[in-house]
Amino acid sequence: MNLEDRWIKLEEEIVACRKCARLVAYREEVARTRRKAYHDQEYWGKPVPGFGDPKARLLIFGLAPGAHGSNRTGRMFTGDSSGEFLYSALYRAGFANQAVVSSRSDGLLLNDIFISAACRCVPPDNKPMPQEMLNCRPFILVELDLLARLRGVVALGKIGFDNILAVYRQKGYIIPALEFKHGQFYDFGYGLPWLLASYHPSRQNTQTGRLTEAMFDSIWSQARSKMA
Ligand code: SF4
Repeated sequence: MNLEDRWIKLEEEIVACRKCARLVAYREEVARTRRKAYHDQEYWGKPVPGFGDPKARLLIFGLAPGAHGSNRTGRMFTGDSSGEFLYSALYRAGFANQAVVSSRSDGLLLNDIFISAACRCVPPDNKPMPQEMLNCRPFILVELDLLARLRGVVALGKIGFDNILAVYRQKGYIIPALEFKHGQFYDFGYGLPWLLASYHPSRQNTQTGRLTEAMFDSIWSQARSKMA
């Protein structure tokens, strides 16, 4: 099977997945009930596959779809305030062709970046259970395998950060317990992609000033300098 077919097969497997009963019920309930502002829109209501440049050198690893963001639109970080904050920063940093995104058909192209997450289905209260993230882990393992040019990972939030470390350990590498700290860079050797920690661009972080545009911009310029 060639690379393109492997990507297509992976996406089909993710979108069809019903492994976590709690999350299947929740994602479908949110899609059925909808938020008032989107009552006339058809929600995606399925697992959200990774998105971006299959030749990417940089992986962005987040937590899970937002209930009325990517669970509505079907594309990572699309349709809510976290995505607005992320994609406008990626545009400023030259990783995206447009700053404003709205749907899977809005023309967005990412350059040298692929976006994935620890959990592909929206969890109640944005809190996936450990077993649900474990159920989802085979998908990131395949993505890491397919992203042959990968140099580094930017983890958005502590859960994404811890998940990447767990993935590396599952692959057999000895990785010590590491502190999650915004802007902290870790290089593991072994030919593994390096890891850069960032606060998640959630509303709780961006509206309180815990994560500012300047702080986020410095993550992407740091990442770019390490990709060379
Ligand atoms: S969270 Fe992952 S493993 Fe669980 S149902 Fe969704 S796609 Fe499948």
